Amino acid sequence: MKIVAFEHNGQSGVGLVSSDLLQVQPFDLPQAQRALGALPIVEMQVRGDALPKLLPAIALADVKVIAPLPKPRRNIFCVGKNYYAHAKEFAGSGFDSSAKSGGDIPADPIIFTKVPECVVGPDAVVEMPSVSTAIDYEAELAVIIGKGGKGIAAKDAMSHVWGYTIVNDVTARDWQMRHQQWHMGKSFDTFCPMGPYLVSADELDGAKTRVRCFVNGELRQDASTADLIFDIPKLIETLSAGITLYPGDVIATGTPVGVGIGFKPPKYLKSGDVMRVEIDGIGHLENPVR
Ligand code: MG
Repeated sequence: MKIVAFEHNGQSGVGLVSSDLLQVQPFDLPQAQRALGALPIVEMQVRGDALPKLLPAIALADVKVIAPLPKPRRNIFCVGKNYYAHAKEFAGSGFDSSAKSGGDIPADPIIFTKVPECVVGPDAVVEMPSVSTAIDYEAELAVIIGKGGKGIAAKDAMSHVWGYTIVNDVTARDWQMRHQQWHMGKSFDTFCPMGPYLVSADELDGAKTRVRCFVNGELRQDASTADLIFDIPKLIETLSAGITLYPGDVIATGTPVGVGIGFKPPKYLKSGDVMRVEIDGIGHLENPVR
């Protein structure tokens, strides 16, 4: 199934996307739950509850699609340098404060987080902050946790995956370097475009799908998630070793080669640019920069 969160006639909604991607059938839920997007639906499925009644379909063209998890319960988990070619590109850029610790390819997953308040939806403006001159895009497959848990072994991890969505891990590279951590420069307001849908794991093989990013129509990133250094089971095993995972948690799995700092000179984003991330089996996520 594909779950979309939206606004329609001043109300929040969440519903099932039709197979032709033209319509949404809203779930009959109280407003407080609808405002959380797909989260209550994921939680109901994890509990084994029946899903709410479906209301009459609305054309997707008539609603404003928002992030499928517009208010994540907590920070978005993210993985740094998780594609072989990107790890080399980043280490060679001079912006990698972690590069000294052991060459290009990390021995263990590099984990950081983005604050939940930086999530925005499809077509939402990503704001250029006045305090940075080095804003970059990062196309990523994001895993949505279904059943939570702690100490999840890699061999069991896929049974904890509800599904997937697209995340653009927008980054202020100068802040990422200067402050010796990745949290601030990746958590600026509007720096986490997400969407357009949550796609359940039975509809998509996250271990083998194509991730692409275009800036103003120019292809910048194009890779398969089969090239991940640490695969999805390893990421879940690592994160859950000491942190209990909950339904609706988001893990952005890292970005492929082709980010702006990989070019010489770097191709930073500028006002008026349009970023477009495409992932086969999910759709596209487009956001203008202003
Ligand atoms: Mg990233």
